[in-house]
Amino acid sequence: MKVEVYGLGEVLVDIIPEEPGKYREGTKLTVHFGGAPANTIIGVSRLGHKAGLIAAVGEDLFGEFILSTLEREGVYTKWVKVKKARTSLAFVVLEEGGERSFFFYRKPWVETADTMLKLSDVDLDDVLKAKVVHVSGVSTAYAPLSDTVFEIMRAAYENGLEASFDPNYRPDIWGSGERALKTFDKYLKYTTLLTMGLDELTSLFNTSDYRKVSEEVLEKYPSLKWVAVRLGARGAYVKTRETEVYQPAFRVKAVDTTGAGDAWTAGFIVFHVLEGRDLETSVKIANAVGALTCTKYGATTALPTRTELEEFLKSRD
Ligand code: ADP
Repeated sequence: MKVEVYGLGEVLVDIIPEEPGKYREGTKLTVHFGGAPANTIIGVSRLGHKAGLIAAVGEDLFGEFILSTLEREGVYTKWVKVKKARTSLAFVVLEEGGERSFFFYRKPWVETADTMLKLSDVDLDDVLKAKVVHVSGVSTAYAPLSDTVFEIMRAAYENGLEASFDPNYRPDIWGSGERALKTFDKYLKYTTLLTMGLDELTSLFNTSDYRKVSEEVLEKYPSLKWVAVRLGARGAYVKTRETEVYQPAFRVKAVDTTGAGDAWTAGFIVFHVLEGRDLETSVKIANAVGALTCTKYGATTALPTRTELEEFLKSRD
């Protein structure tokens, strides 16, 4: 099967506490697969399309864990390089109210494998045979990864692939939304699908008026075809140059929303971009993929297979 979607950028291990708020007293931590584009790629694969990852892991047990997870999920791993470094880590902090934040073992704090990916690690001609590349803003912060991602994204856009960008704004990496946006500008010029969570949109653009922001970015970046805004338990909104769609979320018993946004993006790429379902149906299905992902701990644990998704949709009709 030919790879249709490549995720590129950070792949890491998410360390998630079993209960909210306990770091100071000491707590049980669990190890999960993570990294936004990597989560999305696993989502695409479970939904039945061939997906690949372009990234770097460390020469350690966490790197082996990431590679074996990807292989088990049927992800193409030829462009996942093993570097003489440690695998990057993201520690998730669960607040009492269900909110999440992060602190990283990664640049700028320490140099770890994911930011070390170079353009020469990848065969660009091979990558350009795909239909979609999906990039996370986290990977645009530090060279050489940031340059690698930029060159691949630009080549993808210029060769007619869809280039998907999720800012994944993390204050721990950027310091301020303004600084992040300055960097993202270069990438947005080659983006066809911009997908983001409302919280990130608010931090980046200093307003929660997502309709206005969507309109403004469509105007500013001629490459854009879709602007998607995920609204958590409220659902999601997508604006194109012709129309706009809002679909409410599905009601589920959410235990951990980590990765819900990445799952949503996998659903949207699969059903709208690859399979050409209409916008309304695609947003609804993407909401279902997001909702199902919230039902278990970890970003990828509850990513649905195609059959699970179809059964869920049937049960909710
Ligand atoms: P992000 O991780 O980017 O903040 P969201 O939290 O908005 O993304 O989640 C992505 C999608 O997953 C939402 O658009 C929604 O469809 C679904 N989702 C998220 N949280 C819930 C929830 N508590 N209940 C049902 N669906 C949810």
